[in-house]
Amino acid sequence: MGLIVQKYGGSSVADAERLLNVAGRVIETYKEGNSVVVVVSAQGDTTDHLIEKAGEINPSPSKREMDVLLSTGEQVSIALLAMAIEKQGYPVISLTGYQAGIATDSNYGASRIKSIDTERIFRELDRRNIVIVAGFQGWNRFDDITTLGRGGSDTTAVALAASLKADLCEIYTDVDGVYTADPRIVPKASKLNEISFDEMLELASLGANVLHNRSVELAKKYNVNMVVRSSFNNNPGTVVKEVGSVEKILIRGVTRDSNIARIAVMGVEDKPGVAFRLFSLLAKENISVDLIIQSIGRDNTKDISFTVSRDSLDKALLVLNSNLSLIGAKEIDFSDSYSKVSIVGAGAVNNPGIAATMFEALYDADINIHMISTSEIKISVLVDKKDSDRAVNVIHDRFKLDSLQ
Ligand code: ADP
Ligand code: ASP
Ligand code: MG
Repeated sequence: MGLIVQKYGGSSVADAERLLNVAGRVIETYKEGNSVVVVVSAQGDTTDHLIEKAGEINPSPSKREMDVLLSTGEQVSIALLAMAIEKQGYPVISLTGYQAGIATDSNYGASRIKSIDTERIFRELDRRNIVIVAGFQGWNRFDDITTLGRGGSDTTAVALAASLKADLCEIYTDVDGVYTADPRIVPKASKLNEISFDEMLELASLGANVLHNRSVELAKKYNVNMVVRSSFNNNPGTVVKEVGSVEKILIRGVTRDSNIARIAVMGVEDKPGVAFRLFSLLAKENISVDLIIQSIGRDNTKDISFTVSRDSLDKALLVLNSNLSLIGAKEIDFSDSYSKVSIVGAGAVNNPGIAATMFEALYDADINIHMISTSEIKISVLVDKKDSDRAVNVIHDRFKLDSLQ
């Protein structure tokens, strides 16, 4: 018996039948004597459809109004799930992000949770209510509704688990857990029984959308007891936990991020301070830069290329083009026809053979690498988008990740 936070994603609550299935699982947990807090996402593709609807009205709506719109999806889910539980005779109450005390900053569309006032939730739990909370949303100091960024319901769940000091945070989704690669891209991918917070954070940040990366950051910070499981069966899932207790494996997984763009700043003067000026302009606009390559100088000029997320491309181009003379560049070129493919694992960098093996797999498949970057636990390469599924598969094969467990 304890306090359990369960999160059910969009596909787990997509229609009436699935909502009733979720209601059944929640009730089972409650009947065991636990206090249960449930976080739900919008049903199925609701959030995508709401984005499309906005586009039909205004191609560039304000972020504030987008948040008012997108937060409605989760509100539908909490009411429907509460009704499903009510029907079976169990005490339940649904709460919006505001009612659940989830305070965020004012970065509409990508807000961060600042604090959670747990008083209301504890009051409801004391009354033995099952508490259903809308994922992905909070409110800011202007009393506006905010959202946490795509996939943000995971973060609501982990933040609640941390604040409520829950015994367990279960993330229910449409796959059995975290795999060595997205099973939709690599059918042979194998499920991991466990993964460290650090490895999971890299995978999530590099395109494995099974968990929102901020949720993993919070889980690590507050040492939340966390498991990713399927809402469609009773398989054990993947435990995400602190590094010391996880078996050391060289490569844990392969992932792909196609939501990126490459920018090339061409013909910049070959002298000190150029990179500083360029990247501080971007930093001021809060634009994160990833893979960076600087060409060898010729004719006293050089080119600097780097990747940004696809969503920040327009902003980056605007700031660079309006500062061409400050940077001392001749022209800016960009392309969004690339994907970033990465391997993640505690042994990624300290073992010299790993990078060579990854590059050889790509070479054998005739896939060209445009950029490379490495860190303590990952190696990323930039490849043509059209090659990216194949790249993930050949790398997965080469490291024999299908037989990892
Ligand atoms: P939910 O709606 O439950 O939050 P998401 O669609 O956000 O579900 O995340 C689950 C999906 O993440 C899976 O269906 C799978 O295609 C994808 N995915 C990407 N990488 C991985 C991975 N390494 N392991 C498992 N699933 C992954
Ligand atoms: N509904 C939101 C989205 O689709 C949040 C979530 O599902 O986690 O991104
Ligand atoms: Mg998700």
